[in-house]
Amino acid sequence: MDLVTIIAEIAAHMGTRDHRGRVANYIPELAKVDPARFGIAVVTVDGRMITAGDADEPFSIQSISKVFALTLALGKVGDQLWDRVGREPSGNAFNSITQLEHEQGIPRNPFINAGAIVVADVNLGGHQPRVAIGEMLRFVRYLAGDDAIAINEAVAASETATGHRNMALAHYMRAFGNVRHPVDLVLGSYFHQCAIEMSCRQLALAGRYLMLDGRHPDGGRVVSPRRARRINALMLTCGHYDASGDFAFRVGIPGKSGVGGGILAIVPGVAAVAVWSPGLNDNGNSYLGTLALEELARRTGWSVFSPP
Ligand code: GLU
Repeated sequence: MDLVTIIAEIAAHMGTRDHRGRVANYIPELAKVDPARFGIAVVTVDGRMITAGDADEPFSIQSISKVFALTLALGKVGDQLWDRVGREPSGNAFNSITQLEHEQGIPRNPFINAGAIVVADVNLGGHQPRVAIGEMLRFVRYLAGDDAIAINEAVAASETATGHRNMALAHYMRAFGNVRHPVDLVLGSYFHQCAIEMSCRQLALAGRYLMLDGRHPDGGRVVSPRRARRINALMLTCGHYDASGDFAFRVGIPGKSGVGGGILAIVPGVAAVAVWSPGLNDNGNSYLGTLALEELARRTGWSVFSPP
């Protein structure tokens, strides 16, 4: 069966599901999103774009921004980043603080909140948040080839007003010297990066460099092949918080989720996939998004554990 039919059938199938998970409400602005939405976009290595459902509806990318922020930070400081952030799955919730005490303020990986806050500290590089935020926005626009990508200021403000847990994480790591700028500047930058809005189509396009071994489809190089593979490895092992093992088991390709209900998934050399459905499972990952990717992987045979 061809990919267009498979994707249309997956979208139709998801539309029939009663259980959709629960929309994140700890960021009040995110609680307003309609849980009935579902979108999917697949861009293949030969440039075909296949979409279904609400694939052109912008949503809050939230933690998916951690992939782009990590890419930028590695470009700035290279492997020195790994002195300040680990590379192990956390086995804990996305906003957990407990491991930081045992591990001297070094977060487990760059995709849990604590790790992403250190990455945001690196990306700040002595500048004001607006400089770092501008750089991040230019980067994702370049990756997606779309200058319409923007930040939802209401979401950023909503998280700034309520993000006490992230503030606690940042202060705690600053006490260990692992956050080096003032906490309000680091979090200003982090909350705005999380509040970037993209559609499934834009997100799949932005993910192409990770399916292309670090190359932009325009021929430019975003990262080296080794770095692209390592980012994919981290997405596979750490991209879904304490459900990363389950995602690898069920879907079998690197993926990064966000509490806005999006997931970016990469089939190296084959396709970049974005799904969005705002209802979350108990681990904070999109409920229907995960199911849709599981079905897509099963029906296409896509897996990093088998030949392409
Ligand atoms: N901005 C969110 C937070 O820091 C991102 C979490 C997520 O998407 O998982 O809590």
